[in-house]
Amino acid sequence: MRAIVKEARGPGLVMKEVPAPAPGPDDVLIRVLKSSICGTDVHIDTWDAWAAKTIEPPLVIGHEFVGEIVEVGSHVSGLKPGEIVSGEGHLVCGKCRNCLRGRMHMCPHTRGVGVNRPGAFADYLCLPKTNVWVVSPQIPLQVASCFDPLGNAVHTATTFDVLGEDVLITGAGPIGCMSAAICRHAGARSVVVTDVNPCRLELARKMGATVALDVSKESLLETETFLGMKEGFDVGLEMSGSPRALSQMIDVMFAGGRIALLGILPPDASVDWTRIIFKGLTLKGIYGRKMYETWYKMSVLLKSGLSIDPIITHTFPAESFREAFDLMESGQSGKIILEWNG
Ligand code: NAD
Ligand code: ZN
Repeated sequence: MRAIVKEARGPGLVMKEVPAPAPGPDDVLIRVLKSSICGTDVHIDTWDAWAAKTIEPPLVIGHEFVGEIVEVGSHVSGLKPGEIVSGEGHLVCGKCRNCLRGRMHMCPHTRGVGVNRPGAFADYLCLPKTNVWVVSPQIPLQVASCFDPLGNAVHTATTFDVLGEDVLITGAGPIGCMSAAICRHAGARSVVVTDVNPCRLELARKMGATVALDVSKESLLETETFLGMKEGFDVGLEMSGSPRALSQMIDVMFAGGRIALLGILPPDASVDWTRIIFKGLTLKGIYGRKMYETWYKMSVLLKSGLSIDPIITHTFPAESFREAFDLMESGQSGKIILEWNG
């Protein structure tokens, strides 16, 4: 089969023929129809410090996908060939205390598809039956291909109640933009999205942001006045990974406000802790998606009218992956889909 592979330590990716995976008794073999490029794939391509410490080449990369079941193992029931599926890319141990108490998203033994085991940028992907999510026929394939990052957005945006609240989202990347649409859908009073990239801010507007603000040029405090806000934001979703953005968020939160942290901050990021303490802020780190409550919620949100269409900006045949990665790395795109089969 064709696959996009990190062949050796260092920058770059190749497309090459590799053996198709063989499903074990508890596995499902999926023919990949579409996959989408994530920031993680970009880290693996460019071979940054995280990739160098995490990835063991050779590795088929990619974890965002939609596909069709072609074969199920002998211990698999309730799933059958022909079904359209996406899948949870975090494989958990099922035995640790967190797994046993239903907090699988916090399993310390998590292994990632396309990170620690063969990925979805290939004609075929093998997943344990537990990780397969059947996609409703009402949901377009390219949207289902983005379930993984949409799940990050849903998990973060539903961590705190946003109904009637003023929400600040820092970072208009794909996940920040999807979160803007979710918060609007969930009844937020206003959703302000910040970035420093005009292309991304335009996408945030298309995704329903009340205001999309270039913080390198405009002031958040003036935006608060414009929106008739008197006391600051109730809920903050940090989705940039920028220490400056987090610090700015802490400054404009209302006392008692709640912040969900999804963006991956550098290890030496510092904040003014006294602002957090005296404002009585709550900060919560978010990892992955809840298994499988987030998957349920995102399916229902899409069926009840949530649209993420504007964030899917480009589609390429899988063979043109280099062009697609270069575009993703330029910051001049939203989600980019790679077409594999069908
Ligand atoms: P992305 O890198 O595409 O988007 C980040 C955006 O933040 C960019 O558009 C960038 O221009 C913007 N930005 C940079 N500096 C800023 C500033 N000072 N103020 C406001 N915006 C600023 O990322 P994404 O794919 O949308 O993911 C969002 C974040 O979540 C990333 O940090 C990613 O690594 C992280 N992530 C975390 C998890 C998890 O499980 N915790 C999962 C997926 C992604
Ligand atoms: Zn576990």
